[in-house]
Amino acid sequence: MPEPLKLKGIPASAGYAEGPLFNLDPVVARYRSKATAADERLALETAIGTATGRLAKLIQATEGDAADILEFQLAMLEDDALTGPAFAAIAAGQPADAAWRQALDAEIVGYETSDQDYFRARAADMRDIRDQVLRALTADSAAAAPTGAIFYGEDIAPTRFLETDWSAGGGIALKAGSTASHVAMLARSRGVPMIVGLGASPADLAGVALLDAEHGGIVLRPTRAEVEAFRQSSSSFAARRDRAETFLTRPAVTKAGTAVGVQVNIADPSDVDGIDVSTCDGVGLMRTEFLFGKTLPDEETQYRAYRKVLEWAEDKPVTIRTVDAGGDKPVLGFTVEEGNPFLGLRGIRLSLARPEVFRVQIRALLRAALHGNLKVMFPMIAVWDEYQRAAALFAEEQAALAARGVAQKMPPLGIMVEVPSVAIAPEAFAEVAFFSIGSNDLTQYVMAAARDNASVAHLNSIRHPAVLRLIASVAAFGRAQKIPVSLCGDAGGDPAAIPALIEAGLRDLSVVPAQLAMAKAAIADVSI
Ligand code: PEP
Ligand code: MG
Repeated sequence: MPEPLKLKGIPASAGYAEGPLFNLDPVVARYRSKATAADERLALETAIGTATGRLAKLIQATEGDAADILEFQLAMLEDDALTGPAFAAIAAGQPADAAWRQALDAEIVGYETSDQDYFRARAADMRDIRDQVLRALTADSAAAAPTGAIFYGEDIAPTRFLETDWSAGGGIALKAGSTASHVAMLARSRGVPMIVGLGASPADLAGVALLDAEHGGIVLRPTRAEVEAFRQSSSSFAARRDRAETFLTRPAVTKAGTAVGVQVNIADPSDVDGIDVSTCDGVGLMRTEFLFGKTLPDEETQYRAYRKVLEWAEDKPVTIRTVDAGGDKPVLGFTVEEGNPFLGLRGIRLSLARPEVFRVQIRALLRAALHGNLKVMFPMIAVWDEYQRAAALFAEEQAALAARGVAQKMPPLGIMVEVPSVAIAPEAFAEVAFFSIGSNDLTQYVMAAARDNASVAHLNSIRHPAVLRLIASVAAFGRAQKIPVSLCGDAGGDPAAIPALIEAGLRDLSVVPAQLAMAKAAIADVSI
């Protein structure tokens, strides 16, 4: 009997799965060359048509983020800039499959080697498009995975994820991948266990594997004792998750009766559709850079997006963050190419450098403020002057709207605390309306360990005393100065980090909607 093999990865969506491994790595079926270039062209057109039709059908059965992913793929497939080089290669004498593969591989390399996580995450979409058309060309549909399988391979295509029935269990274990990928996002929202960054592959993939996506590991060829221990951890996780559901409808309080506000983090306005407003204390962070997706949104589009969320929240607070483009969130036509984007022109720095874009967002926010309890915050503030300049733009735009007779209202203006300079010397900001700690960035800047780099993930820990000490001192400063302090980084929803955050003095957390129940349950276990 071969030895068990344990591989370590990074958790991308918590949970446990036990099942056969299913190898995801590409199916290479044979393509039969056609007699003429015209026939090759027709074959490629037909295959693109098949893939397009399949995507359109899948879009009809999907909503929200998943539909956005498929629409992105559909738009790419319909874009002549993507398909043109393949048709040109066919005209030059190449068979359709080679022409398509080469054209797409050239695009994919650009995405894969990007130093920005956002583009690297989209490489999976590009590979998905490539393989869908190749499959249509060879008329080879994807091999079916057994029920409850653990999909194992380099990366998984979003369409493969969406076509899989996860109701019978199963999970995902990737050699590469990223916790910021589309599939990781979908897996978290649907509760499918997933780990990424496993690295090199073992030769023998036969048999049952144990996927622990709570801690980030997979065991191949487990011993009986390992299976038993795994099943215990898995049922304890399921029990914690079920128990958590009972906390969802109640306000969050610790064992000692300390109340903790729990708000939600959202990006797209449709994110609130599935949330019962009575289960949370408002929106602690609305990221607006995703509205800035493919094109820069106009004032009306932004106004409608903000108004929708404010009306959903009734009188609960909604904290909308001005655009935090740059770093791991590039926006075409807005952000700039930089050698070290996390330390470059991102967040408020970029907004102040491009006031004509910033002013559009400011006007939309001032108008939307009439429809609810709006608060606005600025990302990546490092020095007081940035806050002052941003606040001055708000005042100028308010006056200009008033002069034109447009109804508007000035919301309270606060800042993200995510650059160490602010966390270390918050006294420069005693006049802001509130602080929201961005623990994702604060941790990466304090630890000098990029948030999207698997090889330094062990250093990127919010529970390092250096990070926790800074959080505690910001919380203490807020209490002394009567400035509300919340935390909206991912750690706010992490049951393992919650006790330390409450211990550090925080009483307001903002978490992704899928973690609301678990966060409230974890708060109930804290004795402070
Ligand atoms: C953070 O940095 O913790 C944060 C909430 O902002 P983002 O993750 O969008 O950079
Ligand atoms: Mg941040």
